[in-house]
Amino acid sequence: MTAIANKIDNYPKSEVAVINLIKVRQELHQIPELAFQEFKTQEYILNKLMSYPGLQIHRFAPTGLLVEYTGSQDKYELFRADMDALPITENTGCDFSSIHPGKMHACGHDIHITILLGLIDQVMQHKPRCNLLFLFQPAEEGCSGAEAVLADLVWQKYEIENAYALHVSPDLPVGTISSRAGNFFAATAEYDVTIEGVSSHIATPEKGRNALQAGIEVYQSVQQLPHIVKSDEHFLCDFGILTAGSVRNAIPAHCLLSGTIRAADRKRIAALKESFKAICQAVSAAYDVKIDTEFLAEYQEVYNSAELLENLKTAAAQTNVNYRQAEMTMAGEDFGFIAARWKGLLFWLGASDKKSYPLHSDRFLPAEEAIEIGVKLFYQLILNKLGT
Ligand SMILES: [Zn+2]
Ligand SMILES: [Zn+2]
Repeated sequence: MTAIANKIDNYPKSEVAVINLIKVRQELHQIPELAFQEFKTQEYILNKLMSYPGLQIHRFAPTGLLVEYTGSQDKYELFRADMDALPITENTGCDFSSIHPGKMHACGHDIHITILLGLIDQVMQHKPRCNLLFLFQPAEEGCSGAEAVLADLVWQKYEIENAYALHVSPDLPVGTISSRAGNFFAATAEYDVTIEGVSSHIATPEKGRNALQAGIEVYQSVQQLPHIVKSDEHFLCDFGILTAGSVRNAIPAHCLLSGTIRAADRKRIAALKESFKAICQAVSAAYDVKIDTEFLAEYQEVYNSAELLENLKTAAAQTNVNYRQAEMTMAGEDFGFIAARWKGLLFWLGASDKKSYPLHSDRFLPAEEAIEIGVKLFYQLILNKLGT
């Protein structure tokens, strides 16, 4: 793509984007960084922002940026992009693949950053009479970067009315978006279960206390949770890791299970945690092993404002973007913390590359054409705000 401004219907055709957004996306895609290590990414964004004098920039420690545009005395609108990548070895075969071994933008956050830079570009060309904040947020992937940046005192300076964010979707074609009012992304809680038994030769199991067997019991009991809690609400409680033992013919003394709970809201998560702990206590007693249950990062559910959803639908209709009603997803998103503090809206941005590899796949490569749609929609939301 040459200049994104030339492709957007509502803008004067003569205006040219200062930055080439396709190139920006490709360059960001090559330098994926993990949570709270987005130093090169932060420098890259700062470098691009130098093209636009007049913006106020606040750096979060250790990474992350808040960019302020002031054009009126009104409250601020906040637009957020997450910045981090995943510990995955890229296998897309694209000619702008990751140059960081074992790291990959497999969740499309490179596209999110690019869209926010494209939005800033539009704003700085057209200078709308409103107040805007652009948040480049670190560590969305399981490390709750949103919570970390929200703890910064810089927010006290601003009265924020609405907060928007998007996430690329491999399940929707370019030109289609999707969202819903109310609970959209699940509340989540991650956990580690560490089991300590006693090792012995496998020929004399009576002398050991089998941590692996206890781990399997925990695993199987947790699968029964939907029957135990008898809830109509959909929830998940499952494991992605089970490791135990180090020798083929010894009773394992250690076992680790790592997993996650997902439910509609944090209240339900709290109740499920209690049921989960009760299971671990029962297994501990039955197998005479020590079980530690450690709950790690928790994400607030994403609660979408019905009013902001109407704003999005209006903006979509004005920009010839299709809107579809979304189902609630059991994925987690730390935008939930932002949407809990201010009126917020998160939506899926169609970015199917026709191969439909899922998010976090080593082949996931969202379509670059989604960038202009994201910029266009965000900017239309700003234009409509000016009209109110
Ligand atoms: Zn992700
Ligand atoms: Zn993501």
